[in-house]
Amino acid sequence: MRPQRGAMPHSQSDTESILRIEDLTVSFDGFRAVDALSLSVERNELRVIIGPNGAGKTTLLDMICGKTRPSSGRVFFNGIDLTKLSEHQIVRAGVGRKFQTPSVYEDLTVIENFEISLPEGQGVLGSLFFRRTEQVMERITSIAEQVFLRDQLDQKAGRLSHGQKQWLEIGMLLIQSPELLLLDEPVAGMSPREREQTADLLNRISQGKSVIVIEHDMDFVKRIAHKVTVLHQGRLLSEGSVAEVQEDSRVIDVYLGH
Ligand code: ADP
Ligand code: MG
Repeated sequence: MRPQRGAMPHSQSDTESILRIEDLTVSFDGFRAVDALSLSVERNELRVIIGPNGAGKTTLLDMICGKTRPSSGRVFFNGIDLTKLSEHQIVRAGVGRKFQTPSVYEDLTVIENFEISLPEGQGVLGSLFFRRTEQVMERITSIAEQVFLRDQLDQKAGRLSHGQKQWLEIGMLLIQSPELLLLDEPVAGMSPREREQTADLLNRISQGKSVIVIEHDMDFVKRIAHKVTVLHQGRLLSEGSVAEVQEDSRVIDVYLGH
């Protein structure tokens, strides 16, 4: 069930950040992978998170999507504290997460992968069955078009290139109409041409929803980022435009200079 609007602790104004992370910390056996981190993401913003390996980027996404429980701190999404919800409830609240390695159903076709990603309750409604199916097909086709897989609909996912699998997984998230999309290194293993296409895709997506992307490729980051957050040892090292963080000597020292 979607949380009832009346039950939300905060009123939802358009000016409120869609995501507000407050003093978030997680320790693994005393080691603070994310350490007193605070940041906010706006509606229709595409935020890129960069930082050296082990900086805590993936762990941060894990805490937003409920995979890892923080030791302390809060994650407010549309005013709802996600740290109190299960992973499933967080998906239903409107947060979609893509992991570092693509996880698609290799033995199913592209269409079937999309079908099983549809939000529950769609598709079967007695006499409306046929119409619903047509609507579902339209939705699948339109998403497939967006993620450059229009001509691969009947192909088994296992036969797609690595880049196409990444796109399929993004499409499987889009079909659930999330308000916030979390993408962990979405262009890893992609060709330069596929990276360009993915940049176009993400620029289009962020016109209607908020997106957080973890990425290392600075050429790619330049093409998509509205704002960049730099993490280092679980802490916020720098934040600003691409140009601002590239000129920040602390960022050059620990990351970009290497
Ligand atoms: P990044 O994505 O920035 O490369 P991670 O968030 O994956 O970094 O990891 C941050 C640090 O936390 C690393 O030192 C990693 O080994 C550690 N870490 C991540 N998850 C766990 C876990 N479940 N148990 C113990 N240590 C972890
Ligand atoms: Mg990572």
